[in-house]
Amino acid sequence: MTVLQLRNTLTREKESLPAPAEAGQVKLYTCGPTVYNHVHIGNWRAFVFYDVLHRALRWLGYDLRHVMNLTDVDDKTIRGSIAEGVPLREFTQRYTDFFLEDLDALRIRHPHDMPRATDAVDAMVSLVETLIDKGVAYKSDDGSVYFKISGFPGYGKLSGLDARELKAGAGGRVAADEYDKENVTDFALWKAWSEEDGDVFWETSLGKGRPGWHLECSALAMEHLGNTIDIHAGGIDLMFPHHENEIAQSEAATGETFSRIWVHNEHLMVGGKKMSKSLKNFFTFRQLVELAGATGREVRYALLNAHYSKKLNLQVTYEGEGEERHPVRFDSLLAAREALHRLDGFRAALERAGEGPDPGDAARAQLQELHAAMRSAIADDLNVPAALGKLFELVKEVNKLEGYDQAFAGEVLAVLQDVDEVLAVLEPEADAGLDADEQQLFEGWVAAREAKDWARADALRDQLQERGIGVQARKGESTWTRL
Ligand code: AMP
Ligand code: ZN
Repeated sequence: MTVLQLRNTLTREKESLPAPAEAGQVKLYTCGPTVYNHVHIGNWRAFVFYDVLHRALRWLGYDLRHVMNLTDVDDKTIRGSIAEGVPLREFTQRYTDFFLEDLDALRIRHPHDMPRATDAVDAMVSLVETLIDKGVAYKSDDGSVYFKISGFPGYGKLSGLDARELKAGAGGRVAADEYDKENVTDFALWKAWSEEDGDVFWETSLGKGRPGWHLECSALAMEHLGNTIDIHAGGIDLMFPHHENEIAQSEAATGETFSRIWVHNEHLMVGGKKMSKSLKNFFTFRQLVELAGATGREVRYALLNAHYSKKLNLQVTYEGEGEERHPVRFDSLLAAREALHRLDGFRAALERAGEGPDPGDAARAQLQELHAAMRSAIADDLNVPAALGKLFELVKEVNKLEGYDQAFAGEVLAVLQDVDEVLAVLEPEADAGLDADEQQLFEGWVAAREAKDWARADALRDQLQERGIGVQARKGESTWTRL
């Protein structure tokens, strides 16, 4: 039986989960989006990574419970709603809806629960009260409540901050939801209302105010999954301080391990820099659809192209200088499109298989070997690029055969279907239009038929068929379908 192995940031070791039959319910928590804008495709790298983890666990037979929060109250959401003069809930609902639509376009399975932070303020308040009772949180003069990091000896264990760094920073405090590695400080659990918050506040036993961002994940994870979860995932930029703070809040309150395994995805880069809102070097999924005719499947494939723990560079070609500079080609997307064309063509050929020779035992043994290699690559710390490598090896080997019968084609298709439970890239978009190249081939075929250039028409029809597109001419009308 295959078990999943993950590299645990906490121990810096690759660790095996118990076998599915012994693991009980696997509890997974992933840090969700802040719903104040369209998320960019760097963020989508994180969500696609969570999805691969989610799918791999279920595919290997684990009983999974997955929770992901929606951050619908923090400095940024409040600022945005005030700037537009729209109530916070209305403002965040708009971006939640966009997020869920794009989630589906990228073939991401929904977590079992996606709680909003604002629906769990009571749980957050009671967590803060527990921390005050235990002496690891204190009220400041303005009524905000801070976590005292010197009161939690394990602070820094995830990100490997040493005592020296802690000492240099300790004593200060920070109210902002986001702060950087230079500031190892007490952080806000509860923020007393201030004018910038407008009408966003809760009247609670802690006073009038709102929860801090870090608190939300601790409270939601424990409320939905219990004191100890199995796996916590997030982007590498969240390791410090966000995840460090989550551990401190949860473990100081319960005295129990908060999460056994922590996994972090590396960044999507562009031009050697992290893609981020603040650097203004980002693209949203919708921009890629508009600018490059991208599909969710292509973006997903492009994001799967590197191991989650390695940086991935989005290749873009720009023209113009300064203000005029604009993207003219998304090379990573073109590469993804090309790879998917090959896979579509391969699948279409398998589906068309009719009478043919039985390729024999050696070919079957090779098919099983490649299938096993794909399965173990995925189980080995979600090595999707290695699995894709084996998939293309399979394409090459099957194409080398001097034909095959329907039975063998069915066996190959079953292997594809199995690995696609995790990859989710093989099924063509149901309503996908033709891309620019395909459109050109199709128009060429129509024109060649009109010119009665049958040889050219046949050659173009074959090229389209290789890409998984069938063409028909009936009653003077030319149409195409995905095979
Ligand atoms: P946020 O909405 O900013 O909290 O981000 C949502 C998720 O996206 C978090 O897990 C971040 O760590 C992750 N993330 C942000 N930027 C990138 C990037 N450029 N590449 C990969 N993941 C990212
Ligand atoms: Zn979080």
